[in-house]
Amino acid sequence: MSNILVVLESREGSLRAASLEALGAARTFADQRGSSVIALATEKCELDASLLGGAGADKVLIADAAGHSADGAAATAARVAKESDATVVLLSATVRGRDLTARIAALLGTGFAADCTAADAEAMTFTRPEFGGKAFTTIKINGPVAVASLRGNFFAAAGREASAEMSEVASEAGVSMVTEISSQTGGRPDVSEATKVVAGGRGMGEAENWSMIEAVADAIPGCALGASRAVVDSGWRPHSEQVGQTGKTVAPELYIAAGISGAIQHLAGMNSSKVIVAINKDAEAPIFKHATYGIVGDALEVLPALADELKKLGL
Ligand SMILES: Cc1cc2nc3c(=O)[nH]c(=O)nc-3n(C[C@H](O)[C@H](O)[C@H](O)COP(=O)(O)OP(=O)(O)OC[C@H]3O[C@@H](n4cnc5c(N)ncnc54)[C@H](O)[C@@H]3O)c2cc1C
Repeated sequence: MSNILVVLESREGSLRAASLEALGAARTFADQRGSSVIALATEKCELDASLLGGAGADKVLIADAAGHSADGAAATAARVAKESDATVVLLSATVRGRDLTARIAALLGTGFAADCTAADAEAMTFTRPEFGGKAFTTIKINGPVAVASLRGNFFAAAGREASAEMSEVASEAGVSMVTEISSQTGGRPDVSEATKVVAGGRGMGEAENWSMIEAVADAIPGCALGASRAVVDSGWRPHSEQVGQTGKTVAPELYIAAGISGAIQHLAGMNSSKVIVAINKDAEAPIFKHATYGIVGDALEVLPALADELKKLGL
């Protein structure tokens, strides 16, 4: 029987939320095809059988690697895909997932679809946006296995009552080893995974004014910080927070854009957000055409007032 393999991703020993979404997508494929969902952790990490089972996994394999490299992880995943007779292999379209997707497809001698926002389990096709979401490509993979990476916040965990069967599996050694990962998120969620984001642009004036962005983020649980490229290029914020064509792609429930003009390259990274709140002192700023709510005003006045009101809500 053919199965669906999901390659889980962890960071500092903890499972990343995007992997649960990939499991939900895999569950849809498995239910359509009458097959099972096998999840593979390519290195040791904290895993909860009911969380993974509830998200869609039937079986979880934990590889015995520590500090795995992309080549070792890809080799392990390709071997497990063959051993488990997988016809679909799904990953998250994170930086790590994108790296592994191409490697796994190459090792399996098949094609892949990257950064997908929809999947049709019946037709076995994947859809991905092009040109910053202005066009969509539907991809059918001609090969023995369909490998795809899924963009965060577009798929949902299955939400079922189930516990996955857990077991260990051997891992392939890579030619390189990860010795250190340095994080710049300052304890906040990664902007590409958060369901709420408050982002600032050049209109914030200077790096010191980011305390106003942070005050709003502090009042919203689980809120990440984002930035436009102009801000990152000015050295006000790290590249890890950049949203857009040459930054991260986000699709949160809420995206607050303060002092961001709405250039096409920025929109490419955030225009799939469910609710967009734009704060800009120029009523003609392009961002307002994409905003659910627009506030025409000085961000340096609006943000502190917004933070005060949010604090009163005690979210
Ligand atoms: C190949 C390429 C890739 C790119 N990739 C990216 C990318 O990944 N991400 C990205 O963001 N950009 C990217 N860009 C750059 C993009 O074209 C824009 O230059 C950039 O997004 C502008 O950033 P901004 O909106 O912060 O600044 P600006 O365009 O300068 O806009 C500032 C805005 O702030 C408003 N403002 C000013 N003062 C205030 C105030 N006090 N209160 C409220 N509003 C105020 C202004 O009205 C204006 O709308 C890319 C460009 C290229 C060519």
